[in-house]
Amino acid sequence: MTLNRRDFLKTGAATSIGLWLDTLLKPLSLLAGDIDRAFPQMVYRPYGQTGKEVSLLGFGAMRLPFEKGGGTGESVALLVKAYEMGVNYFDTAPKYVFDKSEEIVGLAMKEIDRRNKNVRHPLPYYWTSKSGVGIGDTKADDVLRRIEESLKRLGKDKIPFYHMWCLMDLNHYTEVMKKDGPYEGALKAKEQGLIEHIVFSSHATGEENLQIINDDVFEGMLVGYNVTNFPRQDKAIRRAAEKGMGVVTMNPLAGGLIPQNAEYFAERLKSSGTGMTIVQTALAFIMGQPEITVALSGMSKMEHLEENIKTLNFLKVFTETQLAELKSKYLQDLDGICTTCQYCDVCPEDIPVYRIMEVYNTFILKGKAEFQGYANWLKEHQELDFKAEIEKCIQCKLCEKNCTQHLNILERFDEITTKLL
Ligand code: SF4
Ligand code: SF4
Repeated sequence: MTLNRRDFLKTGAATSIGLWLDTLLKPLSLLAGDIDRAFPQMVYRPYGQTGKEVSLLGFGAMRLPFEKGGGTGESVALLVKAYEMGVNYFDTAPKYVFDKSEEIVGLAMKEIDRRNKNVRHPLPYYWTSKSGVGIGDTKADDVLRRIEESLKRLGKDKIPFYHMWCLMDLNHYTEVMKKDGPYEGALKAKEQGLIEHIVFSSHATGEENLQIINDDVFEGMLVGYNVTNFPRQDKAIRRAAEKGMGVVTMNPLAGGLIPQNAEYFAERLKSSGTGMTIVQTALAFIMGQPEITVALSGMSKMEHLEENIKTLNFLKVFTETQLAELKSKYLQDLDGICTTCQYCDVCPEDIPVYRIMEVYNTFILKGKAEFQGYANWLKEHQELDFKAEIEKCIQCKLCEKNCTQHLNILERFDEITTKLL
């Protein structure tokens, strides 16, 4: 169910949170002018069965405007402003923003608390953090240590939403769930009151996420989802919502691919007919889906925040029928673009075909230099070496047979190794 401020006040559920509204509006009007005139109303959705109501627009604190060696003021101001505009879900983690994100979010929360001091019923807000096998948190004690570090940086005595971070596949998940492993550490932390809800973030396939969801061990999930890759997680998102889990999405603009290729995507999304910017269209596509609890946006400028908030005006643009139409139309229209649906994930040599094809999209949309930059970044940061992967190919063509877009994957492999890298 989606509630705007007024709807929310009318419900019985409003009793726990609704009282903050009148008092909230006062500081807002002092700090940001007439919020109701300046900005559309924030929308809040229940985060699964946690009893927490969270803003549909969430703040992803991984692209804060902090420069190494610089000050934190601009980032703190942006986070505080977001809160003043009704955002109450702040996603952070160790390592983000030169490992400063948690500390900056902590400073922002301190400022929010200071400003709320004389507000009788301030807007409740929530923050996250994460631990991952990929950053060495492989045992229960590692996770407990990581949580203690995060709490110090955040300046809080608990973390409302704690992620088992960056599950890449089911092996990774098994590692998280093993005896004396990360999940057990998170459970202990929960028993000690250090965290409230254990959730997961994932880059695994949609099918793998379905399996994780069906195990009923998490209260929510965070997955990448946008107009370029929605087929990948559609089923998992709907299943998670059916199960009463919170569903948080990240990467709404496909890592900048959408605004950087606005004309290309505007052409394909023109059926929306709203006059929205392409960024707003892409966000409304996500936010308009009732199964999605929070759409995280990694904002680094005040303009991003303002544009994102205005998108809330357009939520009703995409009805369920229009969404289905848009999805099927969009799929039909995509000629040569990999939709990252992962149906090609059948390779006997374990070559991550969909990841290679996803990056090949960059070549189609932005040219060779961008493709090389992305491929080199993956090699350096995620140990994904395209040339080495492609060398393993035994040309069985199973991936091509399964490709929903009928892409010439092997031709592209050839082009990548001989001309692009
Ligand atoms: S053709 Fe190559 S990449 Fe495709 S499934 Fe067969 S071995 Fe894997
Ligand atoms: S290569 Fe084809 S099957 Fe694989 S993810 Fe891309 S579109 Fe889907």
